[in-house]
Amino acid sequence: MAELNTLNNEWVLTWLRRSAEVVARHKSELSELDRLIGDGDHGENLDRGFSAVLAKLDAEPPATPGDALKLVAMTLMSKVGGAAGPLYGTAYLRAATAVGGTLELDAPLLAVMLTAARDGLVARGKAEPRDKTMVDAWTPAVDAAAASVAAGAHPTEVLAAAAAAAEQGAEDTIPLVAHKGRASYLGERSAGHKDPGAASSALLLRAAADTAAGYGAEEAQQ
Ligand code: ADP
Ligand code: MG
Repeated sequence: MAELNTLNNEWVLTWLRRSAEVVARHKSELSELDRLIGDGDHGENLDRGFSAVLAKLDAEPPATPGDALKLVAMTLMSKVGGAAGPLYGTAYLRAATAVGGTLELDAPLLAVMLTAARDGLVARGKAEPRDKTMVDAWTPAVDAAAASVAAGAHPTEVLAAAAAAAEQGAEDTIPLVAHKGRASYLGERSAGHKDPGAASSALLLRAAADTAAGYGAEEAQQ
Protein backbone atom coordinates (compact mmCIF):
# COMPACT_ATOMS: atom_id res chain seq x y z
CA MET A 1 0.00 0.00 0.00
CA ALA A 2 1.27 3.45 -0.82
CA GLU A 3 2.07 5.52 2.24
CA LEU A 4 0.45 8.91 1.81
CA ASN A 5 1.93 11.67 3.95
CA THR A 6 -1.25 13.70 3.94
CA LEU A 7 -4.98 13.26 3.41
CA ASN A 8 -6.93 15.94 1.58
CA ASN A 9 -10.44 17.30 1.17
CA GLU A 10 -11.38 14.45 -1.12
CA TRP A 11 -10.56 12.03 1.68
CA VAL A 12 -12.78 13.98 4.08
CA LEU A 13 -15.69 14.09 1.63
CA THR A 14 -15.35 10.39 0.85
CA TRP A 15 -15.11 9.58 4.56
CA LEU A 16 -18.32 11.49 5.24
CA ARG A 17 -20.13 9.74 2.39
CA ARG A 18 -18.91 6.40 3.66
CA SER A 19 -20.03 7.37 7.17
CA ALA A 20 -23.55 7.96 5.86
CA GLU A 21 -23.49 4.56 4.11
CA VAL A 22 -22.18 2.74 7.17
CA VAL A 23 -24.67 4.40 9.50
CA ALA A 24 -27.53 3.46 7.14
CA ARG A 25 -26.29 -0.13 6.96
CA HIS A 26 -25.99 -0.42 10.76
CA LYS A 27 -29.08 1.59 11.63
CA SER A 28 -31.11 -1.33 13.04
CA GLU A 29 -28.16 -2.76 14.91
CA LEU A 30 -27.44 0.59 16.61
CA SER A 31 -31.09 1.07 17.53
CA GLU A 32 -31.23 -2.50 18.87
CA LEU A 33 -28.27 -1.75 21.16
CA ASP A 34 -30.09 1.41 22.27
CA ARG A 35 -33.32 -0.55 22.79
CA LEU A 36 -31.49 -2.75 25.31
CA ILE A 37 -30.19 0.09 27.50
CA GLY A 38 -31.92 3.25 26.22
CA ASP A 39 -34.92 4.20 24.12
CA GLY A 40 -34.08 2.44 20.86
CA ASP A 41 -33.54 5.45 18.61
CA HIS A 42 -29.78 5.81 18.22
CA GLY A 43 -29.61 4.26 14.73
CA GLU A 44 -32.57 6.29 13.43
CA ASN A 45 -31.19 9.45 15.02
CA LEU A 46 -27.80 9.12 13.37
CA ASP A 47 -29.22 7.95 10.06
CA ARG A 48 -31.49 10.99 9.88
CA GLY A 49 -28.46 13.20 10.53
CA PHE A 50 -26.11 11.58 8.05
CA SER A 51 -28.79 11.40 5.34
CA ALA A 52 -29.11 15.17 5.69
CA VAL A 53 -25.31 15.48 5.55
CA LEU A 54 -25.28 13.48 2.33
CA ALA A 55 -27.94 15.70 0.75
CA LYS A 56 -25.89 18.80 1.60
CA LEU A 57 -22.67 17.28 0.25
CA ASP A 58 -24.49 16.50 -3.00
CA ALA A 59 -25.94 20.00 -3.23
CA GLU A 60 -22.71 21.86 -2.58
CA PRO A 61 -19.51 20.00 -1.66
CA PRO A 62 -17.46 22.00 0.86
CA ALA A 63 -14.07 23.18 -0.44
CA THR A 64 -11.97 22.45 2.63
CA PRO A 65 -11.80 19.74 5.30
CA GLY A 66 -12.67 22.32 7.95
CA ASP A 67 -15.77 23.45 6.07
CA ALA A 68 -16.86 19.85 5.53
CA LEU A 69 -16.50 18.99 9.22
CA LYS A 70 -18.38 22.15 10.14
CA LEU A 71 -21.21 21.22 7.80
CA VAL A 72 -21.49 17.86 9.57
CA ALA A 73 -21.48 19.56 12.97
CA MET A 74 -24.26 21.99 12.06
CA THR A 75 -26.35 19.31 10.37
CA LEU A 76 -26.09 16.79 13.21
CA MET A 77 -26.90 19.48 15.79
CA SER A 78 -30.06 20.46 13.94
CA LYS A 79 -31.26 17.04 12.68
CA VAL A 80 -30.28 14.53 15.35
CA GLY A 81 -32.48 14.53 18.41
CA GLY A 82 -31.48 13.20 21.79
CA ALA A 83 -28.09 13.16 23.39
CA ALA A 84 -26.07 12.13 20.35
CA GLY A 85 -26.85 15.17 18.15
CA PRO A 86 -25.30 17.86 20.34
CA LEU A 87 -22.50 15.50 21.40
CA TYR A 88 -21.44 14.52 17.88
CA GLY A 89 -22.14 18.07 16.73
CA THR A 90 -19.68 19.44 19.26
CA ALA A 91 -17.11 16.78 18.35
CA TYR A 92 -17.21 17.61 14.61
CA LEU A 93 -17.20 21.33 15.35
CA ARG A 94 -14.06 21.02 17.49
CA ALA A 95 -12.50 18.84 14.80
CA ALA A 96 -13.28 21.57 12.24
CA THR A 97 -11.67 24.22 14.43
CA ALA A 98 -8.60 22.02 14.95
CA VAL A 99 -7.93 21.66 11.22
CA GLY A 100 -8.77 25.31 10.47
CA GLY A 101 -8.11 26.16 6.83
CA THR A 102 -5.55 23.39 6.29
CA LEU A 103 -5.97 21.52 2.98
CA GLU A 104 -3.53 18.66 3.55
CA LEU A 105 -3.91 16.81 6.84
CA ASP A 106 -0.73 15.10 8.01
CA ALA A 107 -0.49 12.42 10.70
CA PRO A 108 0.09 14.78 13.66
CA LEU A 109 -2.81 17.01 12.60
CA LEU A 110 -5.11 13.99 12.28
CA ALA A 111 -4.26 13.02 15.85
CA VAL A 112 -4.88 16.61 16.98
CA MET A 113 -8.21 16.60 15.11
CA LEU A 114 -9.35 13.37 16.81
CA THR A 115 -8.23 14.64 20.21
CA ALA A 116 -10.17 17.88 19.69
CA ALA A 117 -13.29 15.86 18.80
CA ARG A 118 -12.96 13.75 21.95
CA ASP A 119 -12.34 16.84 24.09
CA GLY A 120 -15.50 18.37 22.62
CA LEU A 121 -17.54 15.31 23.60
CA VAL A 122 -16.18 15.45 27.11
CA ALA A 123 -16.75 19.20 27.41
CA ARG A 124 -20.34 18.79 26.26
CA GLY A 125 -21.37 15.58 28.04
CA LYS A 126 -19.07 15.62 31.09
CA ALA A 127 -18.62 11.85 30.88
CA GLU A 128 -15.52 10.25 32.27
CA PRO A 129 -13.81 7.14 30.95
CA ARG A 130 -15.72 3.98 31.95
CA ASP A 131 -19.04 5.82 32.28
CA LYS A 132 -20.19 3.62 29.35
CA THR A 133 -20.54 6.30 26.68
CA MET A 134 -19.03 7.18 23.31
CA VAL A 135 -16.09 8.63 25.25
CA ASP A 136 -15.05 5.01 25.91
CA ALA A 137 -14.49 4.50 22.18
CA TRP A 138 -12.90 7.91 21.57
CA THR A 139 -10.41 7.95 24.42
CA PRO A 140 -8.54 4.77 23.45
CA ALA A 141 -8.77 5.91 19.81
CA VAL A 142 -7.12 9.23 20.61
CA ASP A 143 -4.45 7.55 22.72
CA ALA A 144 -3.71 5.04 19.95
CA ALA A 145 -3.53 7.82 17.35
CA ALA A 146 -1.07 9.80 19.49
CA ALA A 147 1.10 6.72 20.07
CA SER A 148 1.02 5.94 16.38
CA VAL A 149 2.14 9.48 15.48
CA ALA A 150 4.92 9.29 18.08
CA ALA A 151 6.11 6.09 16.38
CA GLY A 152 6.31 7.94 13.05
CA ALA A 153 3.23 6.43 11.42
CA HIS A 154 1.57 7.69 8.23
CA PRO A 155 -2.02 9.01 8.21
CA THR A 156 -3.51 5.69 7.09
CA GLU A 157 -1.79 3.86 9.94
CA VAL A 158 -2.80 6.49 12.48
CA LEU A 159 -6.46 6.15 11.48
CA ALA A 160 -6.25 2.35 11.43
CA ALA A 161 -4.81 2.40 14.97
CA ALA A 162 -7.56 4.77 16.10
CA ALA A 163 -10.30 2.64 14.53
CA ALA A 164 -9.01 -0.60 16.06
CA ALA A 165 -8.74 1.02 19.49
CA ALA A 166 -12.26 2.46 19.18
CA GLU A 167 -13.65 -0.98 18.28
CA GLN A 168 -11.93 -2.50 21.30
CA GLY A 169 -13.12 0.40 23.46
CA ALA A 170 -16.70 -0.17 22.31
CA GLU A 171 -16.44 -3.91 23.13
CA ASP A 172 -15.02 -2.99 26.52
CA THR A 173 -18.17 -1.01 27.39
CA ILE A 174 -20.14 -4.29 27.59
CA PRO A 175 -19.46 -5.10 31.27
CA LEU A 176 -19.63 -1.46 32.38
CA VAL A 177 -22.46 0.11 34.37
CA ALA A 178 -23.64 3.36 32.76
CA HIS A 179 -23.18 6.59 34.69
CA LYS A 180 -24.28 9.06 32.02
CA GLY A 181 -27.18 9.41 29.62
CA ARG A 182 -30.39 7.40 29.47
CA ALA A 183 -28.63 4.06 30.11
CA SER A 184 -27.66 5.31 33.59
CA TYR A 185 -31.36 5.08 34.58
CA LEU A 186 -30.96 1.30 34.42
CA GLY A 187 -28.14 1.27 36.96
CA GLU A 188 -26.59 -2.20 37.28
CA ARG A 189 -28.94 -3.55 34.61
CA SER A 190 -27.04 -1.56 31.99
CA ALA A 191 -24.12 -3.98 32.38
CA GLY A 192 -23.89 -6.77 29.77
CA HIS A 193 -24.69 -4.62 26.71
CA LYS A 194 -22.52 -2.59 24.37
CA ASP A 195 -23.03 1.18 24.50
CA PRO A 196 -24.70 2.29 21.24
CA GLY A 197 -22.80 5.59 21.05
CA ALA A 198 -19.48 3.81 21.52
CA ALA A 199 -20.53 1.39 18.77
CA SER A 200 -21.44 4.20 16.34
CA SER A 201 -18.20 6.03 17.17
CA ALA A 202 -16.20 2.94 16.26
CA LEU A 203 -18.09 2.70 12.94
CA LEU A 204 -17.34 6.34 12.08
CA LEU A 205 -13.65 5.95 12.88
CA ARG A 206 -13.47 2.67 10.93
CA ALA A 207 -15.00 4.51 7.97
CA ALA A 208 -12.23 7.12 8.25
CA ALA A 209 -9.53 4.44 8.28
CA ASP A 210 -11.06 2.40 5.45
CA THR A 211 -11.40 5.48 3.28
CA ALA A 212 -7.75 6.35 3.81
CA ALA A 213 -6.66 2.76 3.16
CA GLY A 214 -8.68 2.76 -0.08
CA TYR A 215 -6.81 5.83 -1.22
CA GLY A 216 -3.47 4.21 -0.44
CA ALA A 217 -4.47 1.11 -2.39
CA GLU A 218 -5.50 3.17 -5.43
CA GLU A 219 -2.19 5.00 -5.41
CA ALA A 220 -0.33 1.70 -5.20
CA GLN A 221 -2.08 0.39 -8.32
CA GLN A 222 -0.94 3.32 -10.42
P1 ADP B 1 -30.75 9.51 23.60
O1 ADP B 1 -30.02 8.82 24.73
O2 ADP B 1 -31.14 10.90 23.95
O3 ADP B 1 -31.86 8.68 23.06
P2 ADP B 1 -29.08 8.55 21.47
O4 ADP B 1 -29.80 7.27 21.66
O5 ADP B 1 -29.00 9.07 20.06
O6 ADP B 1 -29.66 9.68 22.41
O7 ADP B 1 -27.57 8.41 21.97
C1 ADP B 1 -27.25 7.64 23.09
C2 ADP B 1 -25.73 7.61 23.24
O8 ADP B 1 -25.26 8.90 23.60
C3 ADP B 1 -25.25 6.71 24.35
O9 ADP B 1 -25.08 5.38 23.89
C4 ADP B 1 -23.92 7.32 24.77
O10 ADP B 1 -22.84 6.80 24.03
C5 ADP B 1 -24.09 8.77 24.38
N1 ADP B 1 -24.20 9.62 25.55
C6 ADP B 1 -25.30 9.88 26.29
N2 ADP B 1 -25.01 10.77 27.25
C7 ADP B 1 -23.68 11.06 27.13
C8 ADP B 1 -22.76 11.93 27.82
N3 ADP B 1 -23.16 12.67 28.85
N4 ADP B 1 -21.48 11.96 27.39
C9 ADP B 1 -21.09 11.23 26.34
N5 ADP B 1 -21.89 10.41 25.64
C10 ADP B 1 -23.17 10.32 26.04
MG1 MG C 1 -31.61 6.77 22.39
